[in-house]
Amino acid sequence: MNHAALTVRYRPQSFAEVSGQSVITAVLSRAAAEDRVAPAYLFSGTRGVGKTTLARIFAKALNCRKAPGAEPCNACDRCRAITLGGAVDVLEIDAASNRGIDDMRRLKESVGYAPLDARYKVFIIDEAHMLTPEAFNALLKTLEEPPARATFILATTEPHKIPSTILSRCQHYVFKRLSDAELEAHLKKLLALENISHENAALRLLTRRAAGSVRDSMSLLGQVLALSKTALTENDVRSMLGLAGQEFFFRLISAIKKADCPALLLLVRELLDQGLDLGFFLRELTSMWRNIFMLRQAGKAAGKAVDLPEAEVELWLREAEDFDLGHIHACWQMSLEGQHRVLSSLDPALSLELLLLNLALLPRMLSLREISLLSRKLPLLPEAMPPVPEAAPEEHAPLRPEAAPDEPEYPELEQARPEETQKVPPEDFPLHGKEDKKPAQPDPSGEQEKLRRELDDLPLIRAFREKLDAEMIDCLYKSRDEARKEQDKF
Ligand SMILES: [Zn+2]
Repeated sequence: MNHAALTVRYRPQSFAEVSGQSVITAVLSRAAAEDRVAPAYLFSGTRGVGKTTLARIFAKALNCRKAPGAEPCNACDRCRAITLGGAVDVLEIDAASNRGIDDMRRLKESVGYAPLDARYKVFIIDEAHMLTPEAFNALLKTLEEPPARATFILATTEPHKIPSTILSRCQHYVFKRLSDAELEAHLKKLLALENISHENAALRLLTRRAAGSVRDSMSLLGQVLALSKTALTENDVRSMLGLAGQEFFFRLISAIKKADCPALLLLVRELLDQGLDLGFFLRELTSMWRNIFMLRQAGKAAGKAVDLPEAEVELWLREAEDFDLGHIHACWQMSLEGQHRVLSSLDPALSLELLLLNLALLPRMLSLREISLLSRKLPLLPEAMPPVPEAAPEEHAPLRPEAAPDEPEYPELEQARPEETQKVPPEDFPLHGKEDKKPAQPDPSGEQEKLRRELDDLPLIRAFREKLDAEMIDCLYKSRDEARKEQDKF
């Protein structure tokens, strides 16, 4: 059994058989039962969610020998002709290959004649957004004076490309992606009919990979069943579809936790050598961070919010505990944003390596909290920093010969520095210019000093310090305000 056969054999033939889209099937079924037909319909939605399938079922329901009725009988000559694609009054046009005005003119002429055999002429225009402007014009003229006993069904993945003049004359139905649960139920039903046993993890993987498309889910199922015709196992799904196993993700997270860069690069190599599907890997990576975040935040109470089998919850919970919540959150966001960047990069392998290294090294980079701490607690200019406690002479030999007491250590800086600045005791040096008259907080516990020294150990901070000025802090606030404005729009 190949996957094409599977898709064809289980293509729904009645409204009741269609998975998902329950509202649309109910509305169309009722319209067919009451024989109320609009001049034009627009079916929009992502690929493989049943737009043309429903268009054909609707055409059958309108033209069945037993019409009007809520369902086609699928037994009469008209129903069968439509199923086989041979009905003279149901025309399917693929706008991707018939874009020209001539095709539309022929179509317009054909509209003028009453249906030859059936009750209604039905024109199904697939990929309708691909029509040329001239073709749209010709279609518009037809819709302005809709002929009796004819209806147009436009199917498209890109409704925004349909001119508004056409849109306003159509009943518009937006087909949604199927939820994982809906897809899983659909595949389960199909496997039962085929008498094939399955592992739940295998089914879950397939549905996640299909991302809401029924057609994709069935094609993928067909591909995997080429490997084994009696059982659907997780291993088969992973090896057939090139998906990294759970064990791979555990090794990955351990390397990120330890900031073990060589291990990370080896993992990327392994991923590429096995020819795994990078796009799906990145989606799984993002969903892994999401799960870890939920577990770290709410523990076992995260329950159904995490997309994991019960047996794995405990394992991931343990992983989550070793991470700082802020780190997980940032990893989640960076993985999500990295999906497009990696896949559209000229060198996806390098881009993926960089993404993973960034995830691992995040805790060593400067956090916003640290910036804010620094801005409040540390002086701006290096020369105005509090005196660094002197290192024990036996540990650190001086890097340059001791300067004579009267001789300035950095003559060029001394010259540039105004006289009064030198006299400001370091503790009172204001950060944000002269308006800030508030003296620095006393630091009896030495906590500030400790923090400063800890941060000083990070090379990045040293390089960053000179740039830490009011302007940058303003910039951070500005981007936060802009982000809030964006949020308010929705
Ligand atoms: Zn029939």
